[in-house]
Amino acid sequence: MSFLSEQHLDPTLRAALDRFLAEQIRPHFADPLHPPDLETTGKLIEATSALGLIPTPDWPGQGLWHDLPVNETLLILARVAAISPALAWALHLQSAGSKASQMLTGQPGAATQICTTGWHWPITEALLTGHEPRLPGGRRLWLAPATESIWFPVSVDAQQMRWTGIEPSRQPAVTIPAPHGNELLPYLEFAIVEAHAADAPTTSREDWIGLLARDLLGVIAVATGAAAGALHLAKEYATQRQQGGVVIAVHDAVRELIGRSQIAIDGAATALAALGSAPSAGDALACYAQWIDRLFAAADNAIQIFGGMGYMRDTGVEAYVRAIGALRAWSGPSALFARVLAADAAETTSAEPAEIAAERTKPLHPARSWQRLAATARPLVAYDPVSLWEEDTRRLPEPLAAWRRRYAQFARVHVAPLALEADLMSHDAEPPAAILDLLSRAAREGLLSALLPKPLGSLHWSLMRYPLVWLQTIRTEELCAAGGGLGLLLSAHYLGAVPILLSGDPISIRRWLLPAFRDHRRGIPHLFAYAITEPSGGSDVEDTEGAALYRPGTVARRKGKQWVLSGRKIFISGGDLAQTVTVFAALEGEGLESWTCFVVRKDDPGFRVVRNEIKLGQRACAATELEFDEIHLDDSRIVGKLRQGW
Ligand SMILES: Cc1cc2nc3c(=O)[nH]c(=O)nc-3n(C[C@H](O)[C@H](O)[C@H](O)COP(=O)(O)OP(=O)(O)OC[C@H]3O[C@@H](n4cnc5c(N)ncnc54)[C@H](O)[C@@H]3O)c2cc1C
Repeated sequence: MSFLSEQHLDPTLRAALDRFLAEQIRPHFADPLHPPDLETTGKLIEATSALGLIPTPDWPGQGLWHDLPVNETLLILARVAAISPALAWALHLQSAGSKASQMLTGQPGAATQICTTGWHWPITEALLTGHEPRLPGGRRLWLAPATESIWFPVSVDAQQMRWTGIEPSRQPAVTIPAPHGNELLPYLEFAIVEAHAADAPTTSREDWIGLLARDLLGVIAVATGAAAGALHLAKEYATQRQQGGVVIAVHDAVRELIGRSQIAIDGAATALAALGSAPSAGDALACYAQWIDRLFAAADNAIQIFGGMGYMRDTGVEAYVRAIGALRAWSGPSALFARVLAADAAETTSAEPAEIAAERTKPLHPARSWQRLAATARPLVAYDPVSLWEEDTRRLPEPLAAWRRRYAQFARVHVAPLALEADLMSHDAEPPAAILDLLSRAAREGLLSALLPKPLGSLHWSLMRYPLVWLQTIRTEELCAAGGGLGLLLSAHYLGAVPILLSGDPISIRRWLLPAFRDHRRGIPHLFAYAITEPSGGSDVEDTEGAALYRPGTVARRKGKQWVLSGRKIFISGGDLAQTVTVFAALEGEGLESWTCFVVRKDDPGFRVVRNEIKLGQRACAATELEFDEIHLDDSRIVGKLRQGW
């Protein structure tokens, strides 16, 4: 991490910080699957006060945003965030909040927070643009971290904001329900007490912008560290993981990802260091608008470098991406700040709806020209689609349009209402009854058998003249638009069934697909899964160049009249619910040119679902690790022919 070697930190502080981080902080974050609990996180935050990083009741003037210069504060936050963005954000909230409290009350505050959670950027936009803002309603708040006092905005107008102190409701500290980033922080449920509103202190618009600027810089500092942490892991991985016969770090595509991320991180770190001790609010806004999306992309590249592994919690890389995403959602889109800066540069406020309406009345406005246009000429220029989706659908051949509408309807009525709950499922939970009902309905209505025409499957004959890939693209798009996880669950099934269809072998089709499709008609879902990826081969088992060098990890050995299948497959979508898995294996002693597809049933002795991964998203459909421990299969389990699996 290049910003770790920068010279902007006082050498004594840097040495102490490095020692502290290495000895007291990093060990707690070594295992991404077992992060510190809330109590430990609280203790780690407290421990930083010994280093003078956060203000305390005895030393209210010490710490980040206090006696440390702004650029040092930011670089320290970035260094902490490279290990734990959540911890760095907690340090920022405590110290910046204490500074803000000092401004509100005139008293030095300790561990205080200015609460803007969930209200942040609508208020920001209002105050920055000078419009009349509205405070959204809501009486319950989830705040992090646990602090001694909280200030909450109770009224806002274009010039100032009025605050009230609020107190925790009686509930104990709990983890926030379904957080999507920085979830290690302790959260308290707060009830808003408005009784103090009358004598509440106020902040001027300028002071508020100062508070905001501090928060935005804090976000960029934490995001810089988080992106650097993610890239650090990805670079290490890239020098160990082999695909195509070499470590992936030598592939141009991977180098480019690393290079792009490094540029963003170095650029942001340089910008933070260059801010000096008293950056203007405009500098802070510009810094945020310039870097937040690039830093998110930099961390996201790190996931891509890991391939499928990056999507799983084990590596720790996806947590950095979620942390930046959560901070960006909290602070507001970069476009908002770009707009504010643009309006400021032009010495205007950004337009309000009323002003836009007034524009339309001007003589040269296109809307006026339209009104003057003769009725006969209007159709020549009119384009008023009901919706782009509708427009697009109408252009499809009629059978495909009907097919698309059918899936859109199913997705809207049956998938969308379940999507959120399904994607919040724990990785090892039994699927809830609602998901099983959905599968059963999908089966009965023919959504799981549309690979063959009626009466064998559920595909209408009018659709047979269109390529299957087109049908499946439309189907998957509609289902996933309503829920990415459930969409994957309903689609991975076809991925598993298609090798049987593609074999073109009527015996395999009759033996494996038709009984499953018969079950579907009775509302019994019989799911398939597709198992190709192995621990040591993802790209290699899909790519001709890599495959030539690849040593297969799942192997079929001939024993008498049987095949004995051994090995492991990973990231297999829907492998936990599948009754049938199409498994690709090499023949013993041969390379990938012997790749053969075998049918494995879930009750075959030796078949085991080892675990479901903890995934970044699409949790409605488990990514499973499957084990084949000497599974005995006869020749009828070969899909198509031997060595025809590639
Ligand atoms: C949500 C999810 C669901 C999945 N479902 C299934 C499933 O149902 N069945 C199944 O079999 N698999 C499944 N997979 C696995 C998926 O197919 C693999 O993750 C994918 O093939 C990449 O392989 P890998 O993860 O081993 O990455 P690697 O192959 O290790 O690649 C790591 C990085 O190196 C790059 N790279 C590798 N080789 C080269 C090269 N020659 N040139 C340039 N760059 C290269 C890659 O692009 C990537 O950025 C799933 C994965 C995910 C994330």
